Amino acid sequence: MKIFMTGYSNLPQDKFIENLKKNSITMVIDIREKPYSRWQPWTSIKKLPDILFKNGIKYKWMGGSLGGSLFWKDGEECGLFKETEKKVWLGLEKVVDIAKKEKVCLMCACGNFDKCHRSIIAVFLISDYQVNVFDIAKDGSLHEISLT
Ligand SMILES: [Zn+2]
Repeated sequence: MKIFMTGYSNLPQDKFIENLKKNSITMVIDIREKPYSRWQPWTSIKKLPDILFKNGIKYKWMGGSLGGSLFWKDGEECGLFKETEKKVWLGLEKVVDIAKKEKVCLMCACGNFDKCHRSIIAVFLISDYQVNVFDIAKDGSLHEISLT
């Protein structure tokens, strides 16, 4: 199974959509805790689902179970806290389940994969669910994430 990830960073809307289409993504799972952006207003949960829908791509917000602050602090993994561990694992299981039917892309704001909590989610998916994880770079190219 393959799961994709990306950070929209300062990409214009059209280029973001182009990158998703280039990689045949059918569903974007938003893993931002707060699905809004002052700098990239089109990424708001009030706009993005419609934009994606018009391009044949589904949208789902999962920042409640896979938002960064549950297991990520100051740019580093801070372990799964007892009170949030179950939430995170349920979120991961849901993503893996959805990925059986959809070509899923987990989306955050951060352009830099290594400085984003999606790098931790990638480790969980690779080591615990044997998923092949790819990050879509700003130019649309794919980078397979490995644990070594
Ligand atoms: Zn991020």
